Amino acid sequence: MPGGLVMVWFRSDLRLTDNPALQFAASTGKPVLPVFVRNTARDVPWAQGRASKWWLHESLVSLDASLREKGARLILRDGDPGLALTALAVETGADTIVWNSPREPDGRETDAELERQFRRAGISVKVWPSAYLFSPDDIRTREGKPFLVFTPFWNACRAEKPPREPLPAPARLPFPEITVRSPSLDELGLLPAPDRAEGIRAMWKPGELTAHKVLDEFLATRAHAYKTDREFPGIHGTSRLSAHLHFGEISPHALWHRAREANAVHFLRQLCWREFASHLLFHYPHTTDHPLKTEYNRFPWNEDTAALSAWKTGNTGFPFVDAGMRELWATGWQHNRMRMVTASFLTKDLLLNWTLGARWFWDTLVDADLANNTLGWQWVAGCGADAAPYYRVFNPVLQGEKFDPKGEYVRRWIPELAGVSDRFIHRPWEAPAGELRAAGVKLGSTYPSPIIHHEEARKRALAAYASLRRL
Ligand SMILES: Cc1cc2nc3c(=O)[nH]c(=O)nc-3n(C[C@H](O)[C@H](O)[C@H](O)COP(=O)(O)OP(=O)(O)OC[C@H]3O[C@@H](n4cnc5c(N)ncnc54)[C@H](O)[C@@H]3O)c2cc1C
Repeated sequence: MPGGLVMVWFRSDLRLTDNPALQFAASTGKPVLPVFVRNTARDVPWAQGRASKWWLHESLVSLDASLREKGARLILRDGDPGLALTALAVETGADTIVWNSPREPDGRETDAELERQFRRAGISVKVWPSAYLFSPDDIRTREGKPFLVFTPFWNACRAEKPPREPLPAPARLPFPEITVRSPSLDELGLLPAPDRAEGIRAMWKPGELTAHKVLDEFLATRAHAYKTDREFPGIHGTSRLSAHLHFGEISPHALWHRAREANAVHFLRQLCWREFASHLLFHYPHTTDHPLKTEYNRFPWNEDTAALSAWKTGNTGFPFVDAGMRELWATGWQHNRMRMVTASFLTKDLLLNWTLGARWFWDTLVDADLANNTLGWQWVAGCGADAAPYYRVFNPVLQGEKFDPKGEYVRRWIPELAGVSDRFIHRPWEAPAGELRAAGVKLGSTYPSPIIHHEEARKRALAAYASLRRL
Protein backbone atom coordinates (compact mmCIF):
# COMPACT_ATOMS: atom_id res chain seq x y z
CA MET A 1 0.00 0.00 0.00
CA PRO A 2 1.38 3.43 -0.88
CA GLY A 3 2.03 5.59 2.19
CA GLY A 4 2.40 9.09 3.48
CA LEU A 5 0.00 11.40 1.77
CA VAL A 6 -2.05 14.26 3.13
CA MET A 7 -5.75 14.47 2.52
CA VAL A 8 -7.24 17.99 2.44
CA TRP A 9 -10.93 17.95 3.21
CA PHE A 10 -12.61 20.97 1.55
CA ARG A 11 -15.75 22.15 3.32
CA SER A 12 -16.81 25.79 3.34
CA ASP A 13 -13.38 26.97 2.17
CA LEU A 14 -13.54 26.39 -1.58
CA ARG A 15 -10.36 28.31 -2.43
CA LEU A 16 -6.61 28.00 -2.83
CA THR A 17 -5.49 31.37 -1.43
CA ASP A 18 -5.52 31.93 2.30
CA ASN A 19 -6.36 28.31 2.95
CA PRO A 20 -4.35 27.27 6.04
CA ALA A 21 -5.14 23.55 5.71
CA LEU A 22 -4.10 23.44 2.05
CA GLN A 23 -1.02 25.54 2.75
CA PHE A 24 0.03 23.12 5.51
CA ALA A 25 -0.55 20.09 3.26
CA ALA A 26 1.63 21.64 0.54
CA SER A 27 4.37 22.46 3.05
CA THR A 28 4.74 18.79 4.15
CA GLY A 29 6.28 17.89 0.79
CA LYS A 30 3.98 14.84 0.66
CA PRO A 31 1.48 14.18 -2.11
CA VAL A 32 -1.77 16.05 -1.53
CA LEU A 33 -5.24 14.56 -2.04
CA PRO A 34 -8.00 17.22 -2.14
CA VAL A 35 -11.44 15.81 -1.27
CA PHE A 36 -14.98 17.10 -1.06
CA VAL A 37 -17.67 14.95 0.60
CA ARG A 38 -21.33 15.56 -0.03
CA ASN A 39 -22.98 14.56 3.21
CA THR A 40 -26.03 12.51 2.21
CA ALA A 41 -25.88 10.10 5.12
CA ARG A 42 -28.40 11.58 7.48
CA ASP A 43 -31.05 14.23 7.79
CA VAL A 44 -29.31 17.47 8.60
CA PRO A 45 -31.81 19.93 10.14
CA TRP A 46 -30.83 22.74 7.75
CA ALA A 47 -29.74 20.70 4.74
CA GLN A 48 -28.66 22.88 1.83
CA GLY A 49 -31.45 24.49 -0.20
CA ARG A 50 -31.83 24.37 -3.97
CA ALA A 51 -30.13 27.69 -4.79
CA SER A 52 -27.15 26.89 -2.55
CA LYS A 53 -26.74 23.51 -4.21
CA TRP A 54 -26.49 25.18 -7.59
CA TRP A 55 -23.78 27.51 -6.27
CA LEU A 56 -21.93 24.63 -4.65
CA HIS A 57 -21.90 22.66 -7.92
CA GLU A 58 -20.42 25.58 -9.84
CA SER A 59 -17.97 26.41 -7.09
CA LEU A 60 -16.67 22.83 -7.08
CA VAL A 61 -16.19 23.00 -10.86
CA SER A 62 -14.10 26.12 -10.34
CA LEU A 63 -12.13 24.65 -7.43
CA ASP A 64 -11.28 21.55 -9.45
CA ALA A 65 -10.01 23.73 -12.32
CA SER A 66 -7.79 25.74 -9.93
CA LEU A 67 -6.42 22.55 -8.36
CA ARG A 68 -5.60 21.13 -11.78
CA GLU A 69 -3.55 24.23 -12.58
CA LYS A 70 -1.39 23.32 -9.58
CA GLY A 71 -1.04 19.67 -10.52
CA ALA A 72 -3.84 18.12 -8.42
CA ARG A 73 -7.59 17.51 -8.84
CA LEU A 74 -10.65 17.26 -6.66
CA ILE A 75 -11.80 13.83 -5.51
CA LEU A 76 -15.51 13.58 -4.72
CA ARG A 77 -17.35 11.34 -2.33
CA ASP A 78 -20.87 11.21 -0.96
CA GLY A 79 -22.43 9.61 2.10
CA ASP A 80 -21.25 9.86 5.69
CA PRO A 81 -18.10 12.06 5.80
CA GLY A 82 -16.45 10.01 8.55
CA LEU A 83 -16.94 6.70 6.76
CA ALA A 84 -16.14 8.12 3.32
CA LEU A 85 -12.91 9.78 4.46
CA THR A 86 -11.73 6.81 6.51
CA ALA A 87 -12.34 4.50 3.56
CA LEU A 88 -10.48 6.88 1.26
CA ALA A 89 -7.56 7.11 3.70
CA VAL A 90 -7.30 3.33 3.80
CA GLU A 91 -7.59 3.09 0.00
CA THR A 92 -4.89 5.70 -0.66
CA GLY A 93 -2.64 5.24 2.37
CA ALA A 94 -3.23 8.77 3.65
CA ASP A 95 -1.72 9.21 7.11
CA THR A 96 -2.99 12.74 7.73
CA ILE A 97 -6.29 14.56 7.25
CA VAL A 98 -6.45 18.34 7.47
CA TRP A 99 -9.31 20.81 7.15
CA ASN A 100 -10.56 24.27 8.00
CA SER A 101 -13.49 23.97 10.34
CA PRO A 102 -16.84 25.57 9.68
CA ARG A 103 -18.23 27.08 12.83
CA GLU A 104 -21.88 26.13 12.48
CA PRO A 105 -23.40 24.09 15.32
CA ASP A 106 -23.81 20.98 13.23
CA GLY A 107 -20.27 21.24 11.85
CA ARG A 108 -18.86 21.63 15.34
CA GLU A 109 -20.30 18.38 16.64
CA THR A 110 -19.31 16.57 13.47
CA ASP A 111 -15.76 17.90 13.74
CA ALA A 112 -15.19 16.72 17.30
CA GLU A 113 -16.58 13.26 16.55
CA LEU A 114 -14.61 12.96 13.32
CA GLU A 115 -11.34 13.94 14.96
CA ARG A 116 -11.83 11.12 17.47
CA GLN A 117 -12.80 8.67 14.74
CA PHE A 118 -9.76 9.44 12.57
CA ARG A 119 -7.36 9.32 15.48
CA ARG A 120 -8.74 5.90 16.45
CA ALA A 121 -8.03 4.78 12.88
CA GLY A 122 -4.39 5.96 13.29
CA ILE A 123 -4.78 8.99 11.02
CA SER A 124 -3.39 12.24 12.34
CA VAL A 125 -5.65 15.27 12.18
CA LYS A 126 -5.00 19.00 11.98
CA VAL A 127 -7.78 21.57 11.99
CA TRP A 128 -7.71 25.37 11.51
CA PRO A 129 -10.36 27.96 12.26
CA SER A 130 -10.45 30.18 9.19
CA ALA A 131 -14.09 30.89 8.41
CA TYR A 132 -14.20 33.96 10.66
CA LEU A 133 -11.89 36.75 11.75
CA PHE A 134 -12.34 36.46 15.50
CA SER A 135 -12.74 33.51 17.80
CA PRO A 136 -16.05 33.45 19.69
CA ASP A 137 -14.09 32.90 22.91
CA ASP A 138 -11.85 35.95 22.43
CA ILE A 139 -14.65 38.45 21.93
CA ARG A 140 -16.45 38.69 25.28
CA THR A 141 -18.03 41.40 27.38
CA ARG A 142 -16.13 42.69 30.43
CA GLU A 143 -18.10 40.17 32.48
CA GLY A 144 -16.86 37.41 30.19
CA LYS A 145 -20.26 36.88 28.56
CA PRO A 146 -21.21 36.74 24.87
CA PHE A 147 -22.27 40.02 23.31
CA LEU A 148 -25.95 40.57 22.58
CA VAL A 149 -25.70 44.07 21.12
CA PHE A 150 -23.84 44.83 17.90
CA THR A 151 -22.13 48.18 18.55
CA PRO A 152 -20.16 47.06 21.63
CA PHE A 153 -19.35 43.83 19.76
CA TRP A 154 -17.98 45.87 16.85
CA ASN A 155 -15.96 48.03 19.26
CA ALA A 156 -14.55 44.88 20.86
CA CYS A 157 -13.56 43.55 17.41
CA ARG A 158 -11.74 46.79 16.68
CA ALA A 159 -9.91 46.60 20.00
CA GLU A 160 -8.64 43.08 19.18
CA LYS A 161 -5.31 42.66 17.44
CA PRO A 162 -5.89 42.83 13.66
CA PRO A 163 -6.80 39.57 11.92
CA ARG A 164 -3.81 37.69 10.54
CA GLU A 165 -2.51 38.47 7.04
CA PRO A 166 -3.88 36.20 4.30
CA LEU A 167 -1.69 33.35 3.02
CA PRO A 168 -0.71 32.94 -0.64
CA ALA A 169 -1.93 29.98 -2.70
CA PRO A 170 0.51 27.04 -2.74
CA ALA A 171 2.79 27.16 -5.78
CA ARG A 172 2.32 23.45 -6.53
CA LEU A 173 0.16 20.61 -5.26
CA PRO A 174 1.71 17.22 -6.04
CA PHE A 175 -1.08 14.71 -6.59
CA PRO A 176 -0.39 11.09 -5.48
CA GLU A 177 0.76 8.79 -8.24
CA ILE A 178 -2.01 6.28 -7.71
CA THR A 179 -5.41 5.70 -9.27
CA VAL A 180 -8.21 7.21 -7.23
CA ARG A 181 -11.68 6.91 -8.64
CA SER A 182 -14.16 9.72 -8.19
CA PRO A 183 -17.76 10.15 -9.29
CA SER A 184 -18.38 13.09 -11.62
CA LEU A 185 -19.83 16.27 -10.15
CA ASP A 186 -23.08 15.68 -12.05
CA GLU A 187 -23.43 12.41 -10.18
CA LEU A 188 -23.62 14.33 -6.90
CA GLY A 189 -27.00 15.63 -8.17
CA LEU A 190 -26.65 19.20 -6.95
CA LEU A 191 -28.16 21.01 -9.91
CA PRO A 192 -31.80 22.15 -9.63
CA ALA A 193 -34.39 22.05 -12.39
CA PRO A 194 -33.21 24.14 -15.40
CA ASP A 195 -36.01 26.75 -15.14
CA ARG A 196 -34.76 27.97 -11.78
CA ALA A 197 -31.07 27.80 -12.63
CA GLU A 198 -31.36 30.02 -15.70
CA GLY A 199 -31.95 33.35 -13.92
CA ILE A 200 -29.41 32.50 -11.25
CA ARG A 201 -26.81 31.51 -13.83
CA ALA A 202 -27.28 34.83 -15.63
CA MET A 203 -26.46 36.78 -12.49
CA TRP A 204 -23.67 34.82 -10.81
CA LYS A 205 -20.36 33.20 -11.55
CA PRO A 206 -19.23 31.21 -8.53
CA GLY A 207 -15.55 30.55 -7.84
CA GLU A 208 -12.45 32.01 -6.26
CA LEU A 209 -11.29 33.90 -9.33
CA THR A 210 -14.61 35.72 -9.65
CA ALA A 211 -14.74 36.45 -5.90
CA HIS A 212 -11.46 38.36 -6.15
CA LYS A 213 -12.58 40.17 -9.31
CA VAL A 214 -15.85 41.19 -7.62
CA LEU A 215 -13.92 42.52 -4.63
CA ASP A 216 -11.48 44.45 -6.88
CA GLU A 217 -14.36 45.99 -8.77
CA PHE A 218 -16.25 46.86 -5.59
CA LEU A 219 -13.25 48.55 -3.99
CA ALA A 220 -12.39 50.45 -7.17
CA THR A 221 -15.85 51.69 -8.08
CA ARG A 222 -18.43 51.30 -5.30
CA ALA A 223 -16.76 51.32 -1.89
CA HIS A 224 -16.48 55.13 -1.74
CA ALA A 225 -20.28 55.53 -1.94
CA TYR A 226 -21.15 52.33 -0.05
CA LYS A 227 -22.44 54.10 3.07
CA THR A 228 -25.31 55.75 1.20
CA ASP A 229 -25.77 53.58 -1.90
CA ARG A 230 -26.14 50.40 0.15
CA GLU A 231 -29.61 51.52 1.21
CA PHE A 232 -31.12 51.56 -2.27
CA PRO A 233 -32.14 48.25 -3.84
CA GLY A 234 -32.30 49.76 -7.33
CA ILE A 235 -28.60 50.65 -7.21
CA HIS A 236 -25.78 48.13 -7.43
CA GLY A 237 -24.19 49.66 -4.35
CA THR A 238 -23.12 46.69 -2.24
CA SER A 239 -20.38 44.14 -2.83
CA ARG A 240 -22.58 41.12 -3.62
CA LEU A 241 -19.87 38.98 -2.06
CA SER A 242 -22.15 37.15 0.39
CA ALA A 243 -22.30 33.82 -1.44
CA HIS A 244 -18.57 33.93 -2.26
CA LEU A 245 -17.94 34.46 1.45
CA HIS A 246 -20.37 31.77 2.55
CA PHE A 247 -18.71 29.14 0.40
CA GLY A 248 -15.27 30.37 1.39
CA GLU A 249 -14.21 31.29 -2.13
CA ILE A 250 -12.65 34.33 -0.55
CA SER A 251 -11.54 34.45 3.07
CA PRO A 252 -12.75 37.09 5.52
CA HIS A 253 -9.07 37.77 6.26
CA ALA A 254 -8.33 38.63 2.64
CA LEU A 255 -11.42 40.81 2.55
CA TRP A 256 -10.58 42.54 5.81
CA HIS A 257 -7.05 43.50 4.76
CA ARG A 258 -8.08 44.68 1.29
CA ALA A 259 -10.93 46.77 2.73
CA ARG A 260 -8.61 48.22 5.39
CA GLU A 261 -6.11 49.27 2.74
CA ALA A 262 -8.95 50.95 0.86
CA ASN A 263 -10.19 52.57 4.09
CA ALA A 264 -13.66 51.10 3.52
CA VAL A 265 -14.72 51.39 7.17
CA HIS A 266 -18.47 51.08 6.63
CA PHE A 267 -17.91 47.92 4.67
CA LEU A 268 -15.68 46.51 7.45
CA ARG A 269 -18.42 47.28 9.94
CA GLN A 270 -20.92 45.36 7.84
CA LEU A 271 -18.50 42.46 7.56
CA CYS A 272 -18.50 42.40 11.36
CA TRP A 273 -22.26 41.79 11.33
CA ARG A 274 -21.27 38.44 9.83
CA GLU A 275 -18.89 37.93 12.77
CA PHE A 276 -21.67 38.94 15.18
CA ALA A 277 -24.11 36.49 13.60
CA SER A 278 -21.63 33.66 13.97
CA HIS A 279 -20.76 34.75 17.53
CA LEU A 280 -24.46 34.50 18.45
CA LEU A 281 -25.01 31.18 16.75
CA PHE A 282 -21.93 29.76 18.43
CA HIS A 283 -23.15 30.74 21.90
CA TYR A 284 -26.88 30.15 21.25
CA PRO A 285 -27.07 27.26 18.75
CA HIS A 286 -30.78 26.65 19.41
CA THR A 287 -31.67 30.00 17.81
CA THR A 288 -31.85 28.53 14.31
CA ASP A 289 -35.33 27.30 15.28
CA HIS A 290 -36.22 29.05 18.53
CA PRO A 291 -36.34 32.71 19.52
CA LEU A 292 -33.42 34.05 21.49
CA LYS A 293 -35.86 36.00 23.66
CA THR A 294 -37.77 33.18 25.29
CA GLU A 295 -41.01 35.13 25.81
CA TYR A 296 -41.47 34.93 22.04
CA ASN A 297 -42.10 31.20 22.41
CA ARG A 298 -45.63 32.26 23.38
CA PHE A 299 -46.11 34.64 20.45
CA PRO A 300 -49.60 34.21 18.89
CA TRP A 301 -48.48 33.60 15.29
CA ASN A 302 -51.11 33.39 12.61
CA GLU A 303 -51.61 30.45 10.22
CA ASP A 304 -52.48 31.35 6.65
CA THR A 305 -51.14 29.24 3.81
CA ALA A 306 -52.68 31.47 1.12
CA ALA A 307 -50.93 34.56 2.53
CA LEU A 308 -47.64 32.64 2.83
CA SER A 309 -47.90 31.58 -0.79
CA ALA A 310 -48.70 35.16 -1.92
CA TRP A 311 -45.58 36.34 -0.06
CA LYS A 312 -43.35 33.64 -1.53
CA THR A 313 -44.44 34.27 -5.09
CA GLY A 314 -44.46 38.08 -4.89
CA ASN A 315 -48.23 38.49 -5.12
CA THR A 316 -49.15 40.42 -1.98
CA GLY A 317 -50.31 43.49 -3.92
CA PHE A 318 -47.61 45.64 -2.26
CA PRO A 319 -45.22 46.41 -5.14
CA PHE A 320 -42.09 46.97 -3.04
CA VAL A 321 -42.55 43.66 -1.18
CA ASP A 322 -43.45 41.79 -4.36
CA ALA A 323 -40.44 43.20 -6.24
CA GLY A 324 -38.17 41.90 -3.45
CA MET A 325 -39.70 38.44 -3.50
CA ARG A 326 -39.51 38.23 -7.28
CA GLU A 327 -35.90 39.37 -7.26
CA LEU A 328 -35.16 36.59 -4.77
CA TRP A 329 -36.80 33.90 -6.90
CA ALA A 330 -35.29 35.14 -10.16
CA THR A 331 -31.72 35.70 -8.98
CA GLY A 332 -31.24 33.73 -5.74
CA TRP A 333 -30.33 36.97 -3.94
CA GLN A 334 -32.14 39.85 -2.33
CA HIS A 335 -30.87 43.28 -1.38
CA ASN A 336 -30.46 43.78 2.40
CA ARG A 337 -33.11 46.52 2.48
CA MET A 338 -35.53 44.15 0.79
CA ARG A 339 -34.68 41.32 3.20
CA MET A 340 -35.74 43.64 6.02
CA VAL A 341 -38.89 44.86 4.26
CA THR A 342 -40.08 41.43 3.09
CA ALA A 343 -39.27 39.81 6.44
CA SER A 344 -41.13 42.56 8.28
CA PHE A 345 -44.13 42.10 5.99
CA LEU A 346 -44.23 38.36 6.70
CA THR A 347 -43.78 38.56 10.46
CA LYS A 348 -45.67 41.76 11.24
CA ASP A 349 -48.21 42.45 8.49
CA LEU A 350 -49.08 38.80 7.95
CA LEU A 351 -48.14 37.77 11.49
CA LEU A 352 -46.59 34.54 10.19
CA ASN A 353 -43.86 32.77 12.14
CA TRP A 354 -40.37 34.00 11.20
CA THR A 355 -39.14 30.40 10.78
CA LEU A 356 -41.43 30.03 7.72
CA GLY A 357 -39.67 32.96 6.11
CA ALA A 358 -36.25 31.77 7.21
CA ARG A 359 -36.94 28.38 5.60
CA TRP A 360 -38.02 30.02 2.30
CA PHE A 361 -34.92 32.20 2.24
CA TRP A 362 -32.86 29.14 3.06
CA ASP A 363 -34.15 27.34 0.00
CA THR A 364 -34.00 30.26 -2.42
CA LEU A 365 -30.88 32.28 -1.50
CA VAL A 366 -27.56 31.44 -3.13
CA ASP A 367 -25.93 32.98 -0.03
CA ALA A 368 -28.12 31.09 2.49
CA ASP A 369 -26.08 31.13 5.66
CA LEU A 370 -27.33 29.69 8.92
CA ALA A 371 -25.81 32.36 11.14
CA ASN A 372 -26.68 35.40 9.00
CA ASN A 373 -30.15 34.17 8.12
CA THR A 374 -31.00 33.38 11.74
CA LEU A 375 -29.74 36.74 12.94
CA GLY A 376 -31.57 38.62 10.16
CA TRP A 377 -34.93 36.94 10.73
CA GLN A 378 -34.83 37.18 14.51
CA TRP A 379 -33.72 40.79 14.26
CA VAL A 380 -36.68 41.73 12.07
CA ALA A 381 -39.19 39.64 14.04
CA GLY A 382 -38.01 41.35 17.22
CA CYS A 383 -37.14 38.13 19.05
CA GLY A 384 -33.34 38.12 18.56
CA ALA A 385 -30.23 39.95 19.70
CA ASP A 386 -30.09 43.71 19.24
CA ALA A 387 -33.44 43.28 17.52
CA ALA A 388 -35.58 45.97 15.95
CA PRO A 389 -38.01 47.05 18.68
CA TYR A 390 -41.33 45.20 18.48
CA TYR A 391 -43.25 48.36 17.63
CA ARG A 392 -41.15 48.96 14.51
CA VAL A 393 -43.33 47.76 11.66
CA PHE A 394 -41.97 48.68 8.26
CA ASN A 395 -44.57 50.43 6.13
CA PRO A 396 -44.11 48.79 2.71
CA VAL A 397 -45.38 51.86 0.87
CA LEU A 398 -43.25 54.43 2.71
CA GLN A 399 -40.20 52.16 2.52
CA GLY A 400 -40.68 51.98 -1.24
CA GLU A 401 -41.12 55.73 -1.59
CA LYS A 402 -38.00 56.38 0.48
CA PHE A 403 -35.65 53.77 -0.95
CA ASP A 404 -37.01 53.46 -4.49
CA PRO A 405 -38.32 56.99 -5.07
CA LYS A 406 -38.59 56.69 -8.84
CA GLY A 407 -39.95 53.15 -8.70
CA GLU A 408 -37.10 51.82 -10.87
CA TYR A 409 -36.58 48.75 -8.72
CA VAL A 410 -40.29 47.94 -8.70
CA ARG A 411 -40.60 48.37 -12.47
CA ARG A 412 -37.59 46.09 -13.03
CA TRP A 413 -39.20 43.20 -11.15
CA ILE A 414 -42.88 43.90 -11.81
CA PRO A 415 -43.00 44.89 -15.48
CA GLU A 416 -46.81 44.76 -15.44
CA LEU A 417 -46.67 47.99 -13.37
CA ALA A 418 -44.14 49.69 -15.67
CA GLY A 419 -46.65 52.26 -16.94
CA VAL A 420 -47.77 53.46 -13.47
CA SER A 421 -46.51 56.94 -12.52
CA ASP A 422 -43.83 57.52 -9.86
CA ARG A 423 -46.54 58.94 -7.62
CA PHE A 424 -48.58 55.71 -7.49
CA ILE A 425 -46.01 53.04 -8.28
CA HIS A 426 -45.81 52.00 -4.61
CA ARG A 427 -49.58 52.33 -4.01
CA PRO A 428 -51.32 51.48 -7.31
CA TRP A 429 -54.66 50.93 -5.54
CA GLU A 430 -54.83 54.70 -4.96
CA ALA A 431 -54.13 55.58 -8.60
CA PRO A 432 -57.01 57.14 -10.60
CA ALA A 433 -58.89 54.58 -12.71
CA GLY A 434 -57.84 56.41 -15.89
CA GLU A 435 -54.15 56.14 -15.05
CA LEU A 436 -54.42 52.44 -14.35
CA ARG A 437 -56.34 51.89 -17.59
CA ALA A 438 -53.73 53.80 -19.59
CA ALA A 439 -50.96 51.76 -17.88
CA GLY A 440 -52.75 48.51 -18.77
CA VAL A 441 -53.19 47.62 -15.09
CA LYS A 442 -56.31 45.91 -13.81
CA LEU A 443 -55.94 45.36 -10.08
CA GLY A 444 -56.98 41.87 -9.05
CA SER A 445 -56.32 40.69 -12.60
CA THR A 446 -53.00 41.86 -14.13
CA TYR A 447 -51.58 42.60 -10.65
CA PRO A 448 -53.07 41.63 -7.26
CA SER A 449 -55.02 43.96 -5.01
CA PRO A 450 -53.35 44.29 -1.57
CA ILE A 451 -53.96 41.13 0.48
CA ILE A 452 -54.17 43.11 3.72
CA HIS A 453 -54.75 46.64 4.91
CA HIS A 454 -51.38 47.74 6.27
CA GLU A 455 -52.63 50.05 9.01
CA GLU A 456 -55.00 47.40 10.39
CA ALA A 457 -52.29 44.77 10.14
CA ARG A 458 -49.91 47.03 12.03
CA LYS A 459 -52.42 47.43 14.87
CA ARG A 460 -52.97 43.67 14.96
CA ALA A 461 -49.19 43.12 15.18
CA LEU A 462 -48.82 45.62 18.00
CA ALA A 463 -51.67 43.99 19.90
CA ALA A 464 -50.04 40.60 19.46
CA TYR A 465 -46.71 41.93 20.76
CA ALA A 466 -48.45 43.69 23.66
CA SER A 467 -50.10 40.37 24.63
CA LEU A 468 -46.64 38.95 25.33
CA ARG A 469 -46.05 41.55 27.98
CA ARG A 470 -49.38 40.94 29.70
CA LEU A 471 -48.72 37.23 30.24
C1 LIG B 1 -34.09 38.53 7.04
C2 LIG B 1 -32.64 38.53 6.64
C3 LIG B 1 -32.04 37.36 6.19
C4 LIG B 1 -30.70 37.35 5.81
N1 LIG B 1 -30.13 36.18 5.37
C5 LIG B 1 -28.83 36.15 5.02
C6 LIG B 1 -28.22 34.94 4.57
O1 LIG B 1 -28.83 33.87 4.53
N2 LIG B 1 -26.91 34.99 4.17
C7 LIG B 1 -26.18 36.15 4.21
O2 LIG B 1 -25.00 36.14 3.86
N3 LIG B 1 -26.72 37.30 4.67
C8 LIG B 1 -28.02 37.34 5.06
N4 LIG B 1 -28.57 38.52 5.49
C9 LIG B 1 -27.69 39.71 5.65
C10 LIG B 1 -27.55 40.65 4.43
O3 LIG B 1 -28.80 40.97 3.91
C11 LIG B 1 -26.68 40.05 3.34
O4 LIG B 1 -25.46 39.59 3.87
C12 LIG B 1 -26.34 41.08 2.25
O5 LIG B 1 -27.53 41.59 1.69
C13 LIG B 1 -25.50 40.42 1.18
O6 LIG B 1 -25.23 41.32 0.15
P1 LIG B 1 -23.75 41.89 -0.07
O7 LIG B 1 -22.76 40.79 -0.11
O8 LIG B 1 -23.82 42.78 -1.25
O9 LIG B 1 -23.54 42.74 1.26
P2 LIG B 1 -22.51 43.92 1.59
O10 LIG B 1 -23.32 45.07 2.03
O11 LIG B 1 -21.55 44.13 0.51
O12 LIG B 1 -21.77 43.37 2.89
C14 LIG B 1 -20.54 42.62 2.84
C15 LIG B 1 -20.68 41.34 3.62
O13 LIG B 1 -20.93 41.62 5.00
C16 LIG B 1 -21.83 40.65 5.53
N5 LIG B 1 -23.07 41.32 5.95
C17 LIG B 1 -23.58 42.48 5.47
N6 LIG B 1 -24.73 42.78 6.11
C18 LIG B 1 -24.95 41.79 7.01
C19 LIG B 1 -25.97 41.54 7.98
N7 LIG B 1 -26.98 42.39 8.17
N8 LIG B 1 -25.89 40.41 8.70
C20 LIG B 1 -24.85 39.56 8.55
N9 LIG B 1 -23.85 39.75 7.66
C21 LIG B 1 -23.90 40.85 6.90
C22 LIG B 1 -22.15 39.67 4.42
O14 LIG B 1 -21.28 38.57 4.53
C23 LIG B 1 -21.86 40.49 3.17
O15 LIG B 1 -21.53 39.72 2.05
C24 LIG B 1 -29.93 38.55 5.89
C25 LIG B 1 -30.54 39.73 6.34
C26 LIG B 1 -31.88 39.73 6.70
C27 LIG B 1 -32.51 41.01 7.18
